[in-house]
Amino acid sequence: MHIGLDDTDSTKGGCTTYLTAVLIEKLQQFNVEFLDYPLLIRLNPNVPWKTRGNGALCIRLVYDSKFEAQIKETASALWEEHAAVHEKGTDPGIVFFQGDQIPEELTSFSKKTETAIVTLKEAMRLIKKYHAEALGFNSCRGIIGALAAIGETLNCDYTYELIAYRTRKNLGTKRCVDEKSIFDMDKKTQPYTFNNVDTEKGRVIITPRGPDPILFGIRGETPEVVKKAFEVVKPLEPVERWVIFRSNQGTDAHLRHIQNLSKIEPYQSIIVKGVVSQNPRIVPLRHVIFKIKDAFGEIDCAAYEPTGDLRKITRELQVGDEVEVVGAVHKATKKRPQTINLEKINILDLKQTFVAENPLCPECGKRLKSMGKNQGYRCEKCGGKYPDLKKTETSVPRSLRLGLYVTSTRSQRHLTKPLRRYGQEKVDASANHFISEWHSP
Ligand code: ZN
Repeated sequence: MHIGLDDTDSTKGGCTTYLTAVLIEKLQQFNVEFLDYPLLIRLNPNVPWKTRGNGALCIRLVYDSKFEAQIKETASALWEEHAAVHEKGTDPGIVFFQGDQIPEELTSFSKKTETAIVTLKEAMRLIKKYHAEALGFNSCRGIIGALAAIGETLNCDYTYELIAYRTRKNLGTKRCVDEKSIFDMDKKTQPYTFNNVDTEKGRVIITPRGPDPILFGIRGETPEVVKKAFEVVKPLEPVERWVIFRSNQGTDAHLRHIQNLSKIEPYQSIIVKGVVSQNPRIVPLRHVIFKIKDAFGEIDCAAYEPTGDLRKITRELQVGDEVEVVGAVHKATKKRPQTINLEKINILDLKQTFVAENPLCPECGKRLKSMGKNQGYRCEKCGGKYPDLKKTETSVPRSLRLGLYVTSTRSQRHLTKPLRRYGQEKVDASANHFISEWHSP
């Protein structure tokens, strides 16, 4: 059985991953066998109605058929209890699907929910076709994510996250974790964990802010490394439970290559090549805006203040530079045209710029003076006249270097592949295996 869950978060602080962690504890009474780590699937970060992280979850298990009704009931009851159904903008969904194989059509549906906008109608068609069962509240949009989590087999690149949860009593208070131990953990486990600290600001980022029950989450390449990292971090308040999730976080699953600028659509995150067609300018709040173009169109690109080094880099671009930009396409508003909000930029080629200067004296090497337009030059030092010499062109050195630049850790989306992960991408799920303790309780 595959249980998909989505969008039980409310802005007041539920958390679908927490519900999943509790469900894992409850399901043990039915002697279920888990087939995979619970999946934490981040969907298209640009959908206009998302709750905070736009994450959906899936639990895959085998069970004794005599418990089937009880398993479904336990999951539904827990979901109803945790789903913030009375909160505005919360549209929880739960989906049950039975089958040994995930139909390919479901997998492609999942890919679509990660990169584009899908409708509830599409989800309902698949639910009917594959005899899945779905429950939803309010607009029922959560059913889309719940089904998408089931369809995502994570059979390409993936990562893990160990999430530790707070006790109910501490919710809403300041999180207490020994900061030094987090820096220590980062040092001991890099490059196999990522997004632990923001080195630019010297800040810890594994602890969220807000009222949700997450104490901290550690992201990494293997279940072993996130577990090891967990043992290094010193929480200064009780941990109610923890679970290791398998995830598409940090894999760039939301990005789509597009061929040219005519293919740009809002609400997508894209990778596209272009040539800088308007020099960067700094707008209020220190954001940097520039334009790129290709043979098919032109578009604004923005590097916002929190993107840190990425903003500094883009400020140095010049008309004529060849770049590949990566980011979310934002619809035009009254205030600004359609814009790509940069997550990354790959600088492919820098335009050489030249300055024209008077030539040097062939006799003494001093820079010559002009004798007037088209009159040639003369030397002030040794008095020589050179009517035939022309201006020389010297190239101006560029401070930029070719290569990939990624937005600062603190402004990375859940799906953004951080620099630290480059070269560690997985190509299939064959390395996925259970470690002896992957959740508690
Ligand atoms: Zn001279």
